[in-house]
Amino acid sequence: MKFGTKTIHAGQEADPTTGAIMTPIYQTSTYIQASPGDHKGYEYSRTGNPTRSALEKNLAALENGTHGLCFGSGLGAIDAIIKLLSPGDEVISTNDLYGGTYRIFTKIFEFYGIKFHFVGMENADKVESYINENTKMIWAETPTNPMLNIIDIESLGTISKKHDLIFVVDNTFATPYLQRPLDLGADIVMHSLTKYMGGHSDVVMGAAICKDDSLAERLYFIQNSCGAVPGPMDSFLVLRGIKTLHLRMQRHCENGKVIANFLKDHPKVGDVYWPGFESHPNHDVAKRQMDDFGGMISFNIVGNKLEDAVTVVSNTHYFTLAESLGGVESLCGHPASMTHAAIPKEEREKTGVVDSLIRLSVGIEDIEDLIADLDQALAKL
Ligand SMILES: *Cc1c(COP(=O)(O)O)cnc(C)c1O
Repeated sequence: MKFGTKTIHAGQEADPTTGAIMTPIYQTSTYIQASPGDHKGYEYSRTGNPTRSALEKNLAALENGTHGLCFGSGLGAIDAIIKLLSPGDEVISTNDLYGGTYRIFTKIFEFYGIKFHFVGMENADKVESYINENTKMIWAETPTNPMLNIIDIESLGTISKKHDLIFVVDNTFATPYLQRPLDLGADIVMHSLTKYMGGHSDVVMGAAICKDDSLAERLYFIQNSCGAVPGPMDSFLVLRGIKTLHLRMQRHCENGKVIANFLKDHPKVGDVYWPGFESHPNHDVAKRQMDDFGGMISFNIVGNKLEDAVTVVSNTHYFTLAESLGGVESLCGHPASMTHAAIPKEEREKTGVVDSLIRLSVGIEDIEDLIADLDQALAKL
């Protein structure tokens, strides 16, 4: 089955009792047993729910995995994945990381005796030098947020296999439409389904997908034991969102390309970060492991004044100033004062998060309107 067919059909069968085409929202906490233990595969909705199961099967198919597990948020999925580890274990993680991931690693799991090393992963050899006898996991996010760095998944997969580690890729920014990390050597793919997968900014949910039975069994045990599961209504909404993932992503990529080039040629814009540019330091890796370059773009303003960035993000109409990304509507954000405000200025500037940096999540509106919107906002400078 090809990708666009999977989004619509994988894991989904007409309801056996009524013939309903769409997966029903099984709003139930429990299931009848004819005699103890005699049931139809469902006992209690923390353990399993048919609407959630349909979504989990669909996600497994999209990532070319065999097991999908859904959680109440992306962070709920991350929490479950790190619980595969024990005190004393070490993780090598991307340094240019989603802020909430950094927070759960350093403010929660370090107290439970797990150690995290944050390293730039653009050069895979550098990653290997951090591996010691306690290392159990590599955690990568690519493209990274907000600098759109690209990490070579296949190289890290090779290193991870050689040292018998669990290799996790946060695939939130790319989605399986653009890249499928399990095919490139990852052991677990993690998602914030809140973003492109749900796609309509109306649900918070997360997922972990893998193709190894024993790893899946351990994750199922954690999912059921810790209980951070999503409800059936939200599962239904994400299933519904995924049906158009391929169409939405195609338009996000088309619009992203036009906007990246518009910004590059704009006299008031300084650097533009987008993996589709040949001048991007990891463009070759992006071309190899991604099918297109996505709709996330960051840029800074000539002169690098914080007020200038604030002027631009306060004057756009279609690019709404808000946290999050990946919805049908365009959003913009100012990392230095929003998502990355907690990181000291010198620290964030080292990774490129300067005062005037603006991050765009390019939506699927008509491109002429989006360009006009950015053009008039930049004209205010
Ligand atoms: C949003 C996000 C998360 C966290 O997911 P939630 O659904 O907000 O809990 C993790 N990783 C990335 C890359 C994200 O963008």
